[in-house]
Amino acid sequence: MSEPRYRGRFAPSPTGPLHFGSLVTAVASYLEARTRRGEWLIRIEDLDPLREPPEATGQILQSLEAHGLFPDEPVRFQSRRHDAYQAAIDQLLASGHAYRCPCSRKELAEHEGRHPRHCRDSPAALADRPCAIRFRLHDERCHWTDRLLGPQTQIVRAEIDDPVLLRKEGFYAYQLAVVVDDIDQGITDVVRGSDLLDMTAQQLQIYEALGERPPTWLHIPVILNEQGQKLSKQTHAPALDDSRATYNLVDALTALGQQPPAALRTDSVNQILQWACNHWNYRAIHLTAQ
Ligand code: GLU
Repeated sequence: MSEPRYRGRFAPSPTGPLHFGSLVTAVASYLEARTRRGEWLIRIEDLDPLREPPEATGQILQSLEAHGLFPDEPVRFQSRRHDAYQAAIDQLLASGHAYRCPCSRKELAEHEGRHPRHCRDSPAALADRPCAIRFRLHDERCHWTDRLLGPQTQIVRAEIDDPVLLRKEGFYAYQLAVVVDDIDQGITDVVRGSDLLDMTAQQLQIYEALGERPPTWLHIPVILNEQGQKLSKQTHAPALDDSRATYNLVDALTALGQQPPAALRTDSVNQILQWACNHWNYRAIHLTAQ
Protein backbone atom coordinates (compact mmCIF):
# COMPACT_ATOMS: atom_id res chain seq x y z
CA MET A 1 0.00 0.00 0.00
CA SER A 2 1.45 3.40 -0.90
CA GLU A 3 1.89 5.97 1.85
CA PRO A 4 -0.76 8.72 1.86
CA ARG A 5 0.39 12.21 0.86
CA TYR A 6 1.71 14.37 3.71
CA ARG A 7 -0.99 16.53 5.31
CA GLY A 8 -0.14 18.73 8.26
CA ARG A 9 -1.98 21.41 10.19
CA PHE A 10 -1.72 24.24 12.70
CA ALA A 11 -4.56 24.04 15.20
CA PRO A 12 -4.66 27.00 17.62
CA SER A 13 -7.25 27.39 20.37
CA PRO A 14 -8.45 31.02 20.06
CA THR A 15 -7.97 32.02 23.69
CA GLY A 16 -6.14 35.17 22.59
CA PRO A 17 -4.15 36.65 19.72
CA LEU A 18 -1.17 34.80 18.26
CA HIS A 19 2.01 35.15 20.36
CA PHE A 20 5.59 34.31 19.51
CA GLY A 21 5.36 30.74 20.86
CA SER A 22 2.39 29.91 18.66
CA LEU A 23 4.10 31.51 15.64
CA VAL A 24 7.07 29.18 16.15
CA THR A 25 4.73 26.18 16.11
CA ALA A 26 2.89 27.48 13.05
CA VAL A 27 6.15 28.07 11.15
CA ALA A 28 7.52 24.61 12.03
CA SER A 29 4.36 22.82 10.89
CA TYR A 30 4.19 24.95 7.73
CA LEU A 31 7.82 24.28 6.77
CA GLU A 32 7.52 20.55 7.42
CA ALA A 33 4.47 20.38 5.14
CA ARG A 34 6.05 22.50 2.41
CA THR A 35 9.37 20.65 2.36
CA ARG A 36 7.60 17.26 2.35
CA ARG A 37 5.57 18.48 -0.66
CA GLY A 38 2.43 18.13 1.38
CA GLU A 39 -0.59 20.19 2.25
CA TRP A 40 -0.84 22.52 5.23
CA LEU A 41 -4.15 23.34 6.90
CA ILE A 42 -5.35 25.71 9.60
CA ARG A 43 -7.94 24.55 12.10
CA ILE A 44 -9.39 26.86 14.74
CA GLU A 45 -10.10 24.81 17.87
CA ASP A 46 -12.92 26.98 19.18
CA LEU A 47 -14.58 24.52 21.52
CA ASP A 48 -14.97 26.63 24.64
CA PRO A 49 -16.70 29.99 24.13
CA LEU A 50 -16.19 30.87 27.81
CA ARG A 51 -12.40 31.00 27.34
CA GLU A 52 -12.40 32.54 23.85
CA PRO A 53 -12.72 36.28 23.33
CA PRO A 54 -14.81 36.71 20.16
CA GLU A 55 -12.12 38.76 18.41
CA ALA A 56 -9.33 36.19 18.89
CA THR A 57 -10.06 34.02 15.84
CA GLY A 58 -9.96 37.00 13.48
CA GLN A 59 -6.74 38.25 15.08
CA ILE A 60 -5.05 34.84 14.73
CA LEU A 61 -6.05 34.45 11.07
CA GLN A 62 -4.93 37.99 10.27
CA SER A 63 -1.57 37.42 11.96
CA LEU A 64 -0.96 34.18 10.09
CA GLU A 65 -1.71 36.00 6.83
CA ALA A 66 0.60 38.88 7.74
CA HIS A 67 3.37 36.30 8.19
CA GLY A 68 2.67 34.74 4.78
CA LEU A 69 1.26 31.51 6.22
CA PHE A 70 -1.63 30.65 3.90
CA PRO A 71 -3.40 27.28 4.15
CA ASP A 72 -4.10 25.02 1.18
CA GLU A 73 -7.78 24.57 2.07
CA PRO A 74 -10.46 26.73 3.70
CA VAL A 75 -9.94 27.16 7.45
CA ARG A 76 -11.87 24.65 9.55
CA PHE A 77 -13.71 25.72 12.73
CA GLN A 78 -14.38 23.14 15.41
CA SER A 79 -17.43 25.12 16.57
CA ARG A 80 -19.14 23.93 13.36
CA ARG A 81 -18.30 20.26 13.86
CA HIS A 82 -20.49 19.28 16.82
CA ASP A 83 -22.41 16.63 14.85
CA ALA A 84 -19.18 14.82 14.00
CA TYR A 85 -18.05 14.86 17.65
CA GLN A 86 -21.43 13.58 18.82
CA ALA A 87 -21.29 10.76 16.24
CA ALA A 88 -17.86 9.74 17.55
CA ILE A 89 -19.15 9.80 21.14
CA ASP A 90 -22.14 7.64 20.17
CA GLN A 91 -19.75 5.18 18.52
CA LEU A 92 -17.47 5.09 21.58
CA LEU A 93 -20.42 4.66 23.98
CA ALA A 94 -21.86 1.87 21.85
CA SER A 95 -18.55 0.02 21.69
CA GLY A 96 -17.97 0.41 25.44
CA HIS A 97 -14.99 2.77 25.05
CA ALA A 98 -16.76 5.67 26.76
CA TYR A 99 -18.99 6.04 29.79
CA ARG A 100 -21.20 8.59 31.53
CA CYS A 101 -19.75 10.08 34.69
CA PRO A 102 -21.38 12.44 37.22
CA CYS A 103 -18.29 12.66 39.50
CA SER A 104 -17.04 16.11 40.35
CA ARG A 105 -13.34 16.89 40.33
CA LYS A 106 -13.51 17.22 44.11
CA GLU A 107 -15.06 13.78 44.54
CA LEU A 108 -12.45 12.22 42.28
CA ALA A 109 -9.64 13.95 44.19
CA GLU A 110 -11.07 12.72 47.50
CA HIS A 111 -10.94 9.15 46.15
CA GLU A 112 -7.46 9.41 44.65
CA GLY A 113 -8.87 9.68 41.16
CA ARG A 114 -11.13 6.62 41.45
CA HIS A 115 -14.82 7.02 40.71
CA PRO A 116 -16.73 6.82 44.00
CA ARG A 117 -19.98 6.14 42.16
CA HIS A 118 -18.59 3.24 40.12
CA CYS A 119 -19.87 4.97 37.03
CA ARG A 120 -17.03 3.47 35.05
CA ASP A 121 -18.12 -0.09 35.76
CA SER A 122 -21.85 0.03 36.40
CA PRO A 123 -23.59 2.72 34.39
CA ALA A 124 -26.97 1.62 35.74
CA ALA A 125 -25.99 2.87 39.21
CA LEU A 126 -25.78 6.49 38.05
CA ALA A 127 -27.60 9.09 40.09
CA ASP A 128 -29.76 11.69 38.34
CA ARG A 129 -26.94 14.18 38.10
CA PRO A 130 -25.54 15.91 35.08
CA CYS A 131 -22.92 13.68 33.50
CA ALA A 132 -19.75 14.17 31.58
CA ILE A 133 -18.72 11.54 29.08
CA ARG A 134 -15.27 10.08 29.63
CA PHE A 135 -13.05 7.86 27.53
CA ARG A 136 -12.30 4.49 29.09
CA LEU A 137 -8.52 4.20 28.94
CA HIS A 138 -6.83 0.87 29.40
CA ASP A 139 -3.74 0.52 31.56
CA GLU A 140 -0.69 0.54 29.39
CA ARG A 141 2.98 1.31 29.22
CA CYS A 142 2.67 3.01 25.86
CA HIS A 143 5.61 3.20 23.46
CA TRP A 144 5.69 5.48 20.46
CA THR A 145 8.33 7.41 18.57
CA ASP A 146 8.40 11.17 18.25
CA ARG A 147 10.09 12.28 15.03
CA LEU A 148 12.23 14.79 16.90
CA LEU A 149 12.43 13.51 20.48
CA GLY A 150 12.79 9.82 19.59
CA PRO A 151 11.31 6.85 21.49
CA GLN A 152 8.76 7.82 24.16
CA THR A 153 7.30 5.77 26.98
CA GLN A 154 4.17 6.92 28.75
CA ILE A 155 2.30 5.19 31.52
CA VAL A 156 -1.42 5.37 30.94
CA ARG A 157 -3.42 4.94 34.15
CA ALA A 158 -6.87 3.63 33.42
CA GLU A 159 -9.71 5.30 35.34
CA ILE A 160 -7.46 7.88 37.01
CA ASP A 161 -6.51 9.62 33.77
CA ASP A 162 -9.69 8.88 31.79
CA PRO A 163 -10.13 12.06 29.74
CA VAL A 164 -13.41 13.89 29.45
CA LEU A 165 -14.83 13.83 25.91
CA LEU A 166 -17.97 15.87 26.57
CA ARG A 167 -18.11 18.17 29.56
CA LYS A 168 -21.12 18.37 31.87
CA GLU A 169 -21.76 21.89 30.59
CA GLY A 170 -22.21 20.47 27.09
CA PHE A 171 -18.83 21.41 25.56
CA TYR A 172 -16.93 18.86 23.50
CA ALA A 173 -13.39 18.42 24.79
CA TYR A 174 -10.06 18.90 23.06
CA GLN A 175 -8.97 15.24 23.41
CA LEU A 176 -11.94 14.07 21.37
CA ALA A 177 -12.18 16.86 18.81
CA VAL A 178 -8.47 16.85 17.92
CA VAL A 179 -8.55 13.13 17.10
CA VAL A 180 -11.88 13.26 15.22
CA ASP A 181 -10.71 16.17 13.06
CA ASP A 182 -7.20 14.87 12.43
CA ILE A 183 -8.86 11.66 11.17
CA ASP A 184 -11.50 13.48 9.13
CA GLN A 185 -8.97 15.86 7.54
CA GLY A 186 -6.59 13.03 6.69
CA ILE A 187 -3.76 14.52 8.76
CA THR A 188 -0.69 12.28 8.39
CA ASP A 189 1.81 14.29 10.44
CA VAL A 190 1.24 16.45 13.50
CA VAL A 191 3.78 19.12 14.48
CA ARG A 192 2.87 20.81 17.77
CA GLY A 193 4.29 22.15 21.03
CA SER A 194 5.75 19.71 23.53
CA ASP A 195 3.26 20.93 26.17
CA LEU A 196 0.96 18.40 24.46
CA LEU A 197 3.45 15.52 24.63
CA ASP A 198 1.73 13.94 27.64
CA MET A 199 -1.59 13.83 25.79
CA THR A 200 -0.26 11.67 22.99
CA ALA A 201 -0.62 8.23 24.60
CA GLN A 202 -4.27 8.94 25.46
CA GLN A 203 -4.90 10.14 21.93
CA LEU A 204 -3.34 6.94 20.58
CA GLN A 205 -5.90 4.93 22.53
CA ILE A 206 -8.73 7.05 21.09
CA TYR A 207 -7.45 6.39 17.54
CA GLU A 208 -7.38 2.69 18.32
CA ALA A 209 -10.90 2.72 19.76
CA LEU A 210 -12.17 4.46 16.61
CA GLY A 211 -10.36 1.88 14.46
CA GLU A 212 -8.14 4.49 12.76
CA ARG A 213 -4.46 4.79 11.99
CA PRO A 214 -2.70 7.50 14.04
CA PRO A 215 -0.50 10.20 12.48
CA THR A 216 3.18 10.65 13.30
CA TRP A 217 3.96 13.30 15.91
CA LEU A 218 6.76 15.81 16.14
CA HIS A 219 6.77 17.91 19.31
CA ILE A 220 8.82 21.05 19.28
CA PRO A 221 10.25 22.62 22.44
CA VAL A 222 8.00 25.14 24.09
CA ILE A 223 9.26 28.71 23.96
CA LEU A 224 9.88 30.08 27.44
CA ASN A 225 9.83 33.68 28.64
CA GLU A 226 12.62 35.21 30.71
CA GLN A 227 11.06 33.76 33.88
CA GLY A 228 11.25 30.26 32.38
CA GLN A 229 7.47 30.05 31.90
CA LYS A 230 5.75 28.81 28.74
CA LEU A 231 4.65 31.70 26.52
CA SER A 232 0.88 31.61 26.75
CA LYS A 233 -2.11 33.72 27.54
CA GLN A 234 -1.83 32.64 31.20
CA THR A 235 1.74 33.98 31.40
CA HIS A 236 0.69 37.19 29.59
CA ALA A 237 2.65 36.54 26.41
CA PRO A 238 2.39 39.70 24.31
CA ALA A 239 0.47 39.57 21.03
CA LEU A 240 2.65 39.50 17.92
CA ASP A 241 3.16 42.84 16.23
CA ASP A 242 2.13 42.07 12.65
CA SER A 243 3.89 45.18 11.36
CA ARG A 244 7.17 43.47 12.33
CA ALA A 245 6.36 40.23 10.50
CA THR A 246 9.79 39.85 8.87
CA TYR A 247 11.51 40.28 12.24
CA ASN A 248 9.12 37.83 13.89
CA LEU A 249 9.74 35.23 11.19
CA VAL A 250 13.52 35.49 11.44
CA ASP A 251 13.27 35.25 15.24
CA ALA A 252 11.01 32.18 14.91
CA LEU A 253 13.53 30.51 12.57
CA THR A 254 16.30 31.30 15.04
CA ALA A 255 14.27 29.76 17.89
CA LEU A 256 13.88 26.69 15.66
CA GLY A 257 17.67 26.39 15.32
CA GLN A 258 17.70 27.23 11.60
CA GLN A 259 20.36 30.00 11.87
CA PRO A 260 18.90 32.47 9.36
CA PRO A 261 21.29 35.27 8.35
CA ALA A 262 20.36 38.55 10.09
CA ALA A 263 20.24 40.31 6.70
CA LEU A 264 17.12 38.27 5.92
CA ARG A 265 15.10 40.64 8.13
CA THR A 266 15.07 43.26 5.41
CA ASP A 267 13.68 40.82 2.82
CA SER A 268 9.98 40.27 2.26
CA VAL A 269 7.90 37.73 4.18
CA ASN A 270 7.77 35.54 1.06
CA GLN A 271 11.52 35.68 0.54
CA ILE A 272 12.09 34.68 4.16
CA LEU A 273 9.71 31.73 3.87
CA GLN A 274 11.42 30.71 0.63
CA TRP A 275 14.83 30.83 2.35
CA ALA A 276 13.36 28.78 5.20
CA CYS A 277 11.96 26.14 2.81
CA ASN A 278 15.34 25.84 1.08
CA HIS A 279 17.24 25.45 4.36
CA TRP A 280 14.71 23.71 6.62
CA ASN A 281 16.17 20.99 8.79
CA TYR A 282 13.86 19.85 11.59
CA ARG A 283 16.70 17.98 13.28
CA ALA A 284 18.30 21.32 14.12
CA ILE A 285 15.35 22.19 16.36
CA HIS A 286 16.50 20.43 19.51
CA LEU A 287 19.88 22.14 19.33
CA THR A 288 18.15 25.23 20.73
CA ALA A 289 16.58 25.75 24.14
CA GLN A 290 14.14 23.26 25.66
N1 GLU B 1 -5.49 23.52 20.05
C1 GLU B 1 -4.34 23.07 20.75
C2 GLU B 1 -3.62 24.25 21.38
O1 GLU B 1 -3.75 25.35 20.91
C3 GLU B 1 -3.35 22.34 19.87
C4 GLU B 1 -3.87 21.07 19.31
C5 GLU B 1 -2.83 20.16 18.68
O2 GLU B 1 -1.95 20.66 17.96
O3 GLU B 1 -2.93 18.96 18.87
O4 GLU B 1 -2.92 24.10 22.36
